Amino acid sequence: MIADDTFPEIEEWLRPLADPLPAPRPGDWLAEHRETGQTFRQYLAANPVRRGAELSTIYLCLVGEFDAAQQSVVDRTAEYLGLFFDAPVVARRRVPVAEIPPRAKRKHPLWGDRQLLTTYLLHEVLEPDRPDDALAYLALTARDLWPGAGWNFVYGEANLRRRVGVWSIYRNGYPGRGSAYQLCLRRTLAIAAHETGHVLTLEHCTAHACLMNGVNHSEERDALPLTLCPVCLRKLCWNLRVEPAPYLRRLAAFHRGHGLDGADRLAVAADMLDRATEKT
Ligand SMILES: [Zn+2]
Ligand SMILES: [Zn+2]
Repeated sequence: MIADDTFPEIEEWLRPLADPLPAPRPGDWLAEHRETGQTFRQYLAANPVRRGAELSTIYLCLVGEFDAAQQSVVDRTAEYLGLFFDAPVVARRRVPVAEIPPRAKRKHPLWGDRQLLTTYLLHEVLEPDRPDDALAYLALTARDLWPGAGWNFVYGEANLRRRVGVWSIYRNGYPGRGSAYQLCLRRTLAIAAHETGHVLTLEHCTAHACLMNGVNHSEERDALPLTLCPVCLRKLCWNLRVEPAPYLRRLAAFHRGHGLDGADRLAVAADMLDRATEKT
């Protein structure tokens, strides 16, 4: 018998673990953006960017300076991305801010934050330099980002087809010692995994509370779970062709080792999936 490689058991068995998505309040992402989500079937029908022998590696491009504390967050994020997307992560390039043309830099007209233009980084830095085997080519910066006219800022932006994404740690707080470091790390990991999820053609999730929920402001960002809901987890396991339970245990170990929330949820999900496959 050929096993079903679309992992229906993930949605069937893990649904009790999923938290409902709270109704949007004014200013929340879903109050301002009309999105209907993406089922697993819709995801397959979208012919997603998929990891495989041809698209095997995640490449990073560091834009601007990072001090030692910020670099430590970047290093852990690279490690996390490797686990989350089950792929080697390679630091490919550094781009000094001085190399970015004036049209792609600004000071926010009211707030004064120094910002870089996401569309420039995506289309003019990453896309021309993207290796053929890049599952994702991702830029990371400590400068603030804006995506163009009409926007104040974005935490990150990714293209669902072109295998490029960019995100910033600027709004994640300075990673000093103790809780400040933890907070910056958690926020950075969440954006990194969320944006890379988009690169693998995962759309925003409206099914449950989920790492792939859209985020409009800092409160919403900090309420974002660090874990995928069953629908999005099923998409990712199909995409990566990973055995779900061992995959979840690898993530749980990272969460536990770095004091991140979600470790118990990941471990419980792995146990539930083991029981599900024993019964079938
Ligand atoms: Zn998003
Ligand atoms: Zn989801």
